[in-house]
Amino acid sequence: MRILVVEDDRDLNRQLVDALTDAGYVVDKASDGEEGHFLGDTEPYDAVVLDIGLPQMDGLTILEKWRRDGRVMPVLLLTARDRWSDKVAGIDAGADDYVAKPFHIEEVLARLRALIRRAAGHASSEITCGPIRLDTKTSKATVNGTTLKLTSLEFRLLSYLMHHMDEVVSRTELVEHLYDQDFDRDSNTIEVFVGRLRKKMGMDLIETIRGMGYRIKLQDSKS
Ligand code: CA
Repeated sequence: MRILVVEDDRDLNRQLVDALTDAGYVVDKASDGEEGHFLGDTEPYDAVVLDIGLPQMDGLTILEKWRRDGRVMPVLLLTARDRWSDKVAGIDAGADDYVAKPFHIEEVLARLRALIRRAAGHASSEITCGPIRLDTKTSKATVNGTTLKLTSLEFRLLSYLMHHMDEVVSRTELVEHLYDQDFDRDSNTIEVFVGRLRKKMGMDLIETIRGMGYRIKLQDSKS
């Protein structure tokens, strides 16, 4: 899962990026409105953390522009504590949720998890598919109750496919959502990671759809 953080306060920006990276996300960052708007307009994100007060272009303007241009990714707004009018304007501009400053980073993480989940149509923090269980809260995955030892990239890969269960996900889409913008991306490496993931899972739950991509098929959960 790839997240964009748009925040001009340097300490806060760093704090958010560090916490999100620790939580296993790939994170891009912007410290002014122009850059933030540009990234959200051109790169695919699974969620955005957007401050309202920004130099060059404020958060609400950015959000309105994105929504007008059909950018539908979930957006979590950062608002000032007592500005209820900001919250109302934010929701009206197309925000999915907000957190008032000062906030606990755990709250931001929990709200983002919920937004990403819901955007993929999952209401609970655990996503299951047959023998696979993905806990989005602890970033752990199990197969038949056995915890998988995954690298952060392997977990992101599994998590992305599980969030998009029953859809065919192309290699290009995976590359865009698993690596940050500075990474030297090569879609051939995806195949290698899928291979490793399959080996660790001990069964072939990830289908290869020739010429199109990969899919985890929706299955009945037995437990
Ligand atoms: Ca600010």
